[in-house]
Amino acid sequence: MIETFSDRRNRPEKTPKYAVLDFDGTVSLIREGWQQIMTPYFTDELYNTPEGRKLPREQVELHCRDFITLLTGKQTIYQCIRLAEEITAFGGTPEDPQTYKDEYVRRLLVKIDDRLKGLENGKVEPETLTVPGTYDLLGMLQKHGVKAYLASGTDEEHVLNEAALLKVNHYFDGRIYGAQREYKTFSKKLVIERIIRENHLSGGELIGFGDGYVEIENVREAGGFAVGVATNEHERRGIDEWKRERLIRAGANVIIPDYRNIGEIEKMLFGEVTYAV
Ligand SMILES: [Mg+2]
Repeated sequence: MIETFSDRRNRPEKTPKYAVLDFDGTVSLIREGWQQIMTPYFTDELYNTPEGRKLPREQVELHCRDFITLLTGKQTIYQCIRLAEEITAFGGTPEDPQTYKDEYVRRLLVKIDDRLKGLENGKVEPETLTVPGTYDLLGMLQKHGVKAYLASGTDEEHVLNEAALLKVNHYFDGRIYGAQREYKTFSKKLVIERIIRENHLSGGELIGFGDGYVEIENVREAGGFAVGVATNEHERRGIDEWKRERLIRAGANVIIPDYRNIGEIEKMLFGEVTYAV
């Protein structure tokens, strides 16, 4: 269930005290399918340029998919900034990146509206819109006294609302961070650096969970232990090979499909635990 690699450590250096979790795709599946909104939208925009039209649409799409994936985990605006740069490189005249972001968010909200409404009126069970085993993971971390932080590239107001709808917010006790309109004031790297600085930690006491490049790289750079969560979001079962491959490349210490096998994950993080009585 836990995939390990011979060229990197397969358990944390020290007993974990702090954990940073990404939100979308790592905890929440409310925004499952966002790639199917962003990729065709960006492809249309890039295809509709002097150089874009000379290429097969599939090639433009693959190009978009690549840079979208590479920037997954950063705030959405960075993917939009990159789109604008690509449009310029393809001989087109881009809009302001914020315009692309607004349009993307508008389209995404249409897609996820049923899920949000269902959670709000109680017709949808929160558990069905989380990565399997999420509550077990958060409970297990809490049991071990690990302070958990949520850091997301999605706008903070949305993260706060969605974390509350999924009933996971209390595990974080105010330690929830998301993207700001002044996008340079927030990054996962800044959140991680702050956790380490304010708590006088060494990176070895930090663990991270994520399904994107950015958080895995950031946690590893800080000296922490990064768990790559390669859930097949659509099926809520099994591994997404595309994610898995990229998480390995980003430096994930281990890869897991989800948190169903919580006993195994607990053993990996905390070893054979003996409780003082
Ligand atoms: Mg994610």
